[in-house]
Amino acid sequence: MKKAIYAGSFDPITNGHIDIVTRARKMFDEVHIGVIHNLTKTPLFSIEERISLIKKVFTDNNQGVFVEGFSGLLIDYAEKKRINTIIRGLRAVSDFDYEFQMALTNRSLNPEIDTVFFMTDAKYSYLSSSLVKQLAHLKANIQQFVPICVSTALNQKNYE
Ligand code: ADP
Repeated sequence: MKKAIYAGSFDPITNGHIDIVTRARKMFDEVHIGVIHNLTKTPLFSIEERISLIKKVFTDNNQGVFVEGFSGLLIDYAEKKRINTIIRGLRAVSDFDYEFQMALTNRSLNPEIDTVFFMTDAKYSYLSSSLVKQLAHLKANIQQFVPICVSTALNQKNYE
């Protein structure tokens, strides 16, 4: 059974994240989405909200996709789950420096754990959670970037 962890803030999940999970599921029997609890900046959505939105996206017909929150070091979380592959998505060259640094740091902390990168679909290469949040705040139509449940949740936030 091949398992991998896809970790991130997912504040909120976008079609770019979903594209990476879909690609990863073709190579791994189980993809465990790990939603990071301890963010340096305050997220728009609480950990419970972020997890609940991801669960709405990956319903029963998406077997092999699991979601949970975690705090602390990703490497410790991976060890606890006995999973030694971390998935990350790459959009553009601009992602590379940070991802390279993270992957090598994680490897030096635990040489057994490897990071696998998936290239996003070109149409999501400029898409990020922060861009989607800005667009939603300015009342732009974001339906091409996120699932319906996420655009509804973003619109509700703007009225709170
Ligand atoms: P983090 O704050 O840890 O970068 P994100 O939720 O922003 O968390 O992203 C999680 C992972 O998903 C990262 O590897 C990021 O590069 C990737 N990712 C984010 N947006 C996209 C996208 N549009 N296409 C592909 N990968 C993406």
